[in-house]
Amino acid sequence: MLATDERREICSALLASTEKIVLPYNIPLQNTLVSRLSSLVSRLSSLVSRLMQKSKSIVLHRYPYSDSSWIVKALTEECGIVSFIVKGGKRKESPFRGALDPLALAEVVFKHNPNAELQFVKEATLLRWHESMRGDLLHLAQAQVMAEMILRYAPQGVPLDEEFQHLEASLAELDSRDLADGAFARWLLATCEMWGYHLELGACGRCEKPLTEPAADFSPESGTFLCKDCLGIASPRAKKETLDGFWALHRNLPFQDFQYTENALISYLRNHIGFLKEIHSLQWLQEIRKLCSTPKT
Ligand SMILES: [Zn+2]
Repeated sequence: MLATDERREICSALLASTEKIVLPYNIPLQNTLVSRLSSLVSRLSSLVSRLMQKSKSIVLHRYPYSDSSWIVKALTEECGIVSFIVKGGKRKESPFRGALDPLALAEVVFKHNPNAELQFVKEATLLRWHESMRGDLLHLAQAQVMAEMILRYAPQGVPLDEEFQHLEASLAELDSRDLADGAFARWLLATCEMWGYHLELGACGRCEKPLTEPAADFSPESGTFLCKDCLGIASPRAKKETLDGFWALHRNLPFQDFQYTENALISYLRNHIGFLKEIHSLQWLQEIRKLCSTPKT
């Protein structure tokens, strides 16, 4: 499991240590060696554990590097977004096969060098490949948008354990039969919360009274909902489907058509984060939605 340079490091540390052993007359040789060696072993194991990191990871993006290797950008539970180089990853006999596929959940052991741009993967064990999600074009496209949004908008070089927990849970929902429908909308809502853009779904943004039915309007610029009384005779900008979807999210009600609510949440997030970085997989999601929608009779 240890790389050649680590083995070399350990051997030279062992040699250096044995060279320094001086035998005092009154201490038996065996005891001295045992105590020296045990302190050496504990120093070495702490050195190795500092170098090696074991973490759950979800692949956000993967692109080819040379004929046989990949560069993988993954969201890890322990270290945030990490770029891995996966040498020989494209080969059929690669031990990482499947574990470092886009959107796969795996346990990865890697040597974490904070000063290096690319980290070397030592081991990767597939935990969940999300087979059902991959079999559904719409759910797969939603998962791709989640991955791209994290890659583009989440801060780099810091731990992102909350982002990891939400993504892991939402991918599991998209992979399930019962929870897949609202998973993307719930993830978007959780992401607004996580990144500091709280949405008050249960109250009117003007009179502050609790809503007892779906809001009468929503503004993606301010993120506020209006009750029927406050909207008055003005025409709402938000579609009925958008507002019904928000209500279903707030009350945890079953709902079929979340796409308008998803678009409103994305537009709200974009208003706050900025339009500088385009999310390419969104266009793909729109195509899939068109493809999947059944014409209304
Ligand atoms: Zn009101």
